[in-house]
Amino acid sequence: MEFEFEALPWQIIFGNGALKRLPSELDKHGLSRALVLSTLEQRHHADIVADLIEQRCAGIFDQAVMHVPIETVSAAQVVAKSLDVDCTVSIGGGSTTGLGKALALKSDLPNIAIPTTYAGSEMTNVWGITQDGRKTTGRDHKVLPTFTIYDPELTLQLPAFISGPSGINAMAQAVVNATSPRPNPIISALALDGIRALATSLPTVVKQPNNLDARNQALHGACLCGAALGAGITSLHHRLCHTLGGSFNTSHADTHAILLAYSVEYNQAAVPAGTQRVAEALGVKDAARGIFDLLHKVSDKTNLQQLGLKEGDLDKAADIATEKACNNAVEVTRDKVRELFFNAYHGNGPGGRKF
Ligand code: NAD
Repeated sequence: MEFEFEALPWQIIFGNGALKRLPSELDKHGLSRALVLSTLEQRHHADIVADLIEQRCAGIFDQAVMHVPIETVSAAQVVAKSLDVDCTVSIGGGSTTGLGKALALKSDLPNIAIPTTYAGSEMTNVWGITQDGRKTTGRDHKVLPTFTIYDPELTLQLPAFISGPSGINAMAQAVVNATSPRPNPIISALALDGIRALATSLPTVVKQPNNLDARNQALHGACLCGAALGAGITSLHHRLCHTLGGSFNTSHADTHAILLAYSVEYNQAAVPAGTQRVAEALGVKDAARGIFDLLHKVSDKTNLQQLGLKEGDLDKAADIATEKACNNAVEVTRDKVRELFFNAYHGNGPGGRKF
């Protein structure tokens, strides 16, 4: 075996009730004027953080939204500058973590992440900013959180309809890495353990949102899956999701959750060993089918029509997804991508098979 591995400088505090560590961790890092970031829907979480860190809170910016529009970044930069802050604390899902990353990129502000969904963004050095209807992404170590606090208690209020797709979104980060044409044993170990944790916990999370053990397992699964992507790669799956999210504004986690089974099937003949390991981690015989079945267990959104896509959009989506070369185990052709979108649009199951 031959491989190379570069770890990212993660600092993680994980556990039920871990949020209470925030004030002492800020002090440890010499950070004393935080701008707390949240969405409007999670303003109550931002207020809890502000109360907890007392005089270390310089202000709250509660305007984070999906896909990190440049206008939101600029507005937050103005607030950060006027309050003379020395860091941001993002409490929320990938949208809020993403805003903290954008401020780290553009204003050199250290960011602290307190994730409350399973997006996994806090474990990656990937940033994304949307301008003029196009989302630009890149990798930069500067956007990695200075530290991350995972407190599963904060996820107890995450509605089931967000929890299920969000968990499969995390799983996607691991699946693309466990099925890479050049699998890396360290990344695969993180990925497969993450898939196992999410496959075991997600059905319980959705049926019993208040089950703290299941929430704990799902969040630690998301952390491992995010680590796999952070240290690893993206491939066709992310290109497809990026296309639909960026150009047709489909919801991020639902898009990942619906497309993952089809992306796995697209590549499986070229990476049979990795695909088999994913199936084992899921506890099923066929990885694509296992993911398709899991989606039907944990989400009501199981086809692209439900995300607002029109059949007439599929040609344009296939054109955009294939206009640039894509790093993938199998050659990416416009016709095969069009077929994949068609099957996902109708919810047919991978390859058009009705499972
Ligand atoms: P989100 O952050 O938009 O959250 C969805 C909704 O759920 C929001 O209204 C949010 O306030 C609410 N919410 C979150 N946690 C909650 C909780 N515990 N209780 C109640 N409500 C809660 O959705 P998301 O799927 O987490 O993130 C999507 C974004 O993250 C996309 O923009 C995507 O591109 C980005 N992302 C980036 C990476 C990366 O590595 N850079 C990885 C994954 C996702």
